[in-house]
Amino acid sequence: MFVVGNWKMNGSLSLCDDFIKNLKFRENCVICSPYIYLYRFMGAGITVGSQDCSQFKNGSYTGDISCEMLSKFGIKYAIIGHSERVKLYQETKQIILQKTYSCVENAIKPIVCIDNNFEELLREFIHIHDKIIIAYEPATAIGTGVIPTNEEILDVVKKIKSLGQFTMLYGGSVNSKNIDTLKSIQQIDGFLVGGASLKVDEFNKIIESVKE
Ligand code: PEP
Repeated sequence: MFVVGNWKMNGSLSLCDDFIKNLKFRENCVICSPYIYLYRFMGAGITVGSQDCSQFKNGSYTGDISCEMLSKFGIKYAIIGHSERVKLYQETKQIILQKTYSCVENAIKPIVCIDNNFEELLREFIHIHDKIIIAYEPATAIGTGVIPTNEEILDVVKKIKSLGQFTMLYGGSVNSKNIDTLKSIQQIDGFLVGGASLKVDEFNKIIESVKE
């Protein structure tokens, strides 16, 4: 199992350095820091991912960073369609599709976030199921501490895996206290962690619990 940390718009150079010094089990995790800190991890033996990417190849898109740029920089993963981007930036299904395909074309593994309404989107990805990762993140569980039961999560995992053999993460209020319970959900391949990925000791505990 592996763990992806989503720092969101948090962190600092000194937090990067704390992770570089103290992160254990580096082969079992990915850190998605803000773009501006990604360079700090280069050469440190830590796999990094971006929290987004542009849906466009290049051109007059002020503020955007393309998948080609990310890929050439050494980025292996990108979180796509996070519920915060959908809610705060009105990201549509069309944009999520474009970003996902752009990642795949540039050898970046997109971690596509889905809520409970996933069927229509996932059907678009069945033929590239081995090139993407699906993160099931119920909006009600993000940052709230309110997690569905293992049975409820398993139900969704089964539905998703019956559509295609996707690699699947669960995300939403995962921490070092609930990870032992969550990791017993069958067919789950890992976890997407927000708040609890901002403290290296806490993040280490989560990874230690799930690493094989
Ligand atoms: C997230 O926003 O992707 C997330 C999982 O957040 P948290 O772990 O803080 O609920």
